[in-house]
Amino acid sequence: MTMQRNELMTWLQQELAVDMFKDYAPNGLQLQGKAEIGHITCAVTASLAAIEAAIENGSDLLLVHHGWFWKSEPTVITDWKFKRIQTAMQAGLNIAGYHLPLDAHPVLGNNAQLGKVLGLELLSQFGHQNLLAEGVLPEVQSLQELTNKIENVLARTPTVIGNPAQSIKRVAWCTGGAQGYFQEAIDAGVDAYITGEISESQYHLARETGVAFVSAGHHATEKFGVQALAKYIETHHGIGFQFFDEQNPA
Ligand SMILES: [Zn+2]
Repeated sequence: MTMQRNELMTWLQQELAVDMFKDYAPNGLQLQGKAEIGHITCAVTASLAAIEAAIENGSDLLLVHHGWFWKSEPTVITDWKFKRIQTAMQAGLNIAGYHLPLDAHPVLGNNAQLGKVLGLELLSQFGHQNLLAEGVLPEVQSLQELTNKIENVLARTPTVIGNPAQSIKRVAWCTGGAQGYFQEAIDAGVDAYITGEISESQYHLARETGVAFVSAGHHATEKFGVQALAKYIETHHGIGFQFFDEQNPA
């Protein structure tokens, strides 16, 4: 099956409620390629390696969580950025990115999908632009048990601040670089907070509040949303996809 690129983009914009978010990168089509989409490669980030994989896969669209043109990024098209854009353009590859809308989507989002793979029941979304998720484990576990589960599911050893024996039932989480929301999670009264990265200050906050902090990897925690989205496109429009699983330890 194929679909007109513009039709797919309009559909995705509605499905992901893009207009409800204030973001620091453009959501949707970022680089125009072929007018028809017959195959998709999805990836966490629109890196050169992901672009090359998409071309190798014969895809017409590279669908990512981390696209380009971040507010903090230089606006000129030189060096590594030139190489990425040139490579994609020569192949007629479309590039579309969905950032916060794909973090917060209640079903397809990175938060919802991470909760699912970790066996957390999603009870509510809260905080800035609904970017935090809150839920419960099916039964009380020790922090060590939760750590083991995260390590198994994400195939990556997390950094954990807390007493391995402490009991965990209520958990808040936010995928990616959301260590700055730890205080909101503490205020919500949870036993543990899971995110992708850690900075120096979270160590002390965890120690002094007794709320466990788990840094499970930015890339590792954000692998699931874009795959759920590609699967959703396949289900609704019959467009096949492949996931490019870049080995990024960060
Ligand atoms: Zn991210």
